[in-house]
Amino acid sequence: METRDQALAKIQNFEGKYPKQLWYLFFSEMWERFSFYGMRGMLTFFMVHQLMMKEDVANLQYGATQAFVYAFTFIGGFFADKILGFRKSLFWGGILMIVGSIILAIDPHQYFFLGISFTVIGTGFFKPNISTMVGQLYKDGDARTDAGFSLFYSGINIGALLGGYACVAIGKGYSWNLAFGLAAVVMSISLLTFLFTRKYMGPIGLQPETITANKKWYEYVTYLGSLIAIPLIMAMVSKPAYTDWFMYIIGPVALVYILIEILKLKLKAEREKMYAALIFIVFSIFFWAFFEQSGGSLSLFAADHLNSSLLGIFKLDPNGVNNSSNSFFVILFSPIIGLIWIWLNKRKIEPNTVNKFGLGFLFLGASFVILYLCKFTANAKAIASLDVFTLAYFVMTLGELCLSPIGLSIMTKLSPKHLQGVMMGMWFLASAYGQYVAGILGAGIAQASDHASPAQKLETYTSGYLQLGYFALAAGVVLIAISFIVKKLMHEVR
Ligand code: GLN
Repeated sequence: METRDQALAKIQNFEGKYPKQLWYLFFSEMWERFSFYGMRGMLTFFMVHQLMMKEDVANLQYGATQAFVYAFTFIGGFFADKILGFRKSLFWGGILMIVGSIILAIDPHQYFFLGISFTVIGTGFFKPNISTMVGQLYKDGDARTDAGFSLFYSGINIGALLGGYACVAIGKGYSWNLAFGLAAVVMSISLLTFLFTRKYMGPIGLQPETITANKKWYEYVTYLGSLIAIPLIMAMVSKPAYTDWFMYIIGPVALVYILIEILKLKLKAEREKMYAALIFIVFSIFFWAFFEQSGGSLSLFAADHLNSSLLGIFKLDPNGVNNSSNSFFVILFSPIIGLIWIWLNKRKIEPNTVNKFGLGFLFLGASFVILYLCKFTANAKAIASLDVFTLAYFVMTLGELCLSPIGLSIMTKLSPKHLQGVMMGMWFLASAYGQYVAGILGAGIAQASDHASPAQKLETYTSGYLQLGYFALAAGVVLIAISFIVKKLMHEVR
């Protein structure tokens, strides 16, 4: 009989650039993101036009759901490590997401928050754990890991792009029930893809042996507990004030928990690697806080201050460009950048993760400076060039590609096996805080320009972006300056 280790070695000793299992996870995640971004794309519009919420209330509500979704990844990662293993977590999370969208498909008006709550907790179980499984396809030190995550990341964005378009279009044009129903169908495809391909995963993602042996009831309590939590989540998601409280509490609790786990680690090297991971996580909060302006202030900027000509050839809705150019550039460039990492590695000049992160911030900073430059292209009505705006998105996406897939990858490389799920959860928890701060920053920029003339508004937006640009550039410089400390903490991990 083949042991678990032998089966794992067989997977990890793959030839070529990508293991075949990566493609299975790629498609499951692609469909999951279709469903997720499909739902997310409908939320604000649905709340304003169907639930008749005021715009600012709907915006706050949207921010609250996003923060919740990503905050629950910490809990999902925790239960995966301790009790369920990654496969069962994915299965359970997928089921909850399907149930959530079916509830919304049946009556989105009446059961809105109930459906959303199922999705929140389902995503918590699904999203971090599928990413961790990608990391486990690779042996420690395999230089192809980052390229694998980059490919996986384009799958994420193919789903995001398609779902983001399809669902809201169907909702507006035909029926909301059908649109939410589509999210359910697509999530079922994701889950089926996973179920049919999991046999190729060897021992990856199996339940911890201690639980399988004599603590099966832990598993059932986890399922039951997550169902019992739903009314609680419903109460919290539906009142943004509760979300604030939740956000104040979950981060510090998560951090204390991780610190306790770190202190329990026997080897100094293991502890130091975890500190390095925490440094990456903290920086990523800033990254997402700036990056996520896309859903908030940048969409208002696009609506009011951009013309609709791209390269003098295409006529495009500037908000469409705002919503989709990022995914478009990711899909195109993510695999290419992955291959560039492999190419650089062969020549022994691949930047270390800290420097990739630093580079990510430099690109992010440059993109906000380009957004600032938009103002010099404005006409008398304060309408600026869509070309320059799109260029900014291109540069911002390069930044994202140096940070986001690399962040997923480094979480799996720096954490010991038994903490990989929860650390991936921490990585996404940072996104939750990023979204949260993004809302505050964006509201600040938007409010400052209330009751102003178009020219003054343009001025306020662009100078706000210039400030963000400077901060991002400074963060990049700091990261590169402290890279020698972080590298030391990372030991042999690149
Ligand atoms: N767009 C990526 C995804 O959906 C990253 C999300 C994040 O970390 N905030 O997976």
